[in-house]
Amino acid sequence: MSQTIVLASGNQGKLKEFQTLLNNCGYDIQPQSNFAVPEADETGLTFVENAILKARNACTHTGLPSIADDSGIEVDALNGAPGIYSARFARDWVAPQALQTSPNDTRNNAYLLERLTGLPRSERTARYQCVLVFMQHAEDPTPIICQGSWEGIILEEPRGQNGFGYDPLFYVPEQDCSSAELSKALKNSISHRAIAMQALLAALG
Ligand code: IMP
Repeated sequence: MSQTIVLASGNQGKLKEFQTLLNNCGYDIQPQSNFAVPEADETGLTFVENAILKARNACTHTGLPSIADDSGIEVDALNGAPGIYSARFARDWVAPQALQTSPNDTRNNAYLLERLTGLPRSERTARYQCVLVFMQHAEDPTPIICQGSWEGIILEEPRGQNGFGYDPLFYVPEQDCSSAELSKALKNSISHRAIAMQALLAALG
């Protein structure tokens, strides 16, 4: 019987990608929502710390091994922000009236565009970062840690309907389109999450 591993994420966009990335991996992958695991507090100052906090939280509540992802986008013109705060970038932004009740991703993207207003393409470089952590159990002293990054450029307006988060603003030069215009299959073969997952699956053997 295949080993059950809990996926420590409640983010629907990420969960969909993980389903594809972990298809046929030989493990029985279960989202933490199947075990009513509460969200972990992301109090770390690095992707690595936050991924360990999430993985440990899932192990604690399930007694099973877990995989956690902490990811985000680093924008060079913002000195690497929003980075580990990507999911909550626009939290304190006083958004224009029309955006006040918009979904979190829409507000984050609008705020990013505002912060980069007037900057030429050459100064809009950015990258996605993904850190994946595998822990055997909550006290595992040697978590497996794998990382992937993906370079791009922040567009001046959103393009495309696929993906999630900052994908409509993330231009991928090699593909000449935004990451929200890539097919799921292509994004899942070249993204920061795909690179980190390939490394993790290789490390797990
Ligand atoms: P966290 O890892 O749950 O703290 O949140 C990561 C955040 O980074 C997401 O909510 C998105 O805003 C952003 N992010 C991470 N990976 C991607 C991606 O593949 N596409 C778009 N946005 C992403």
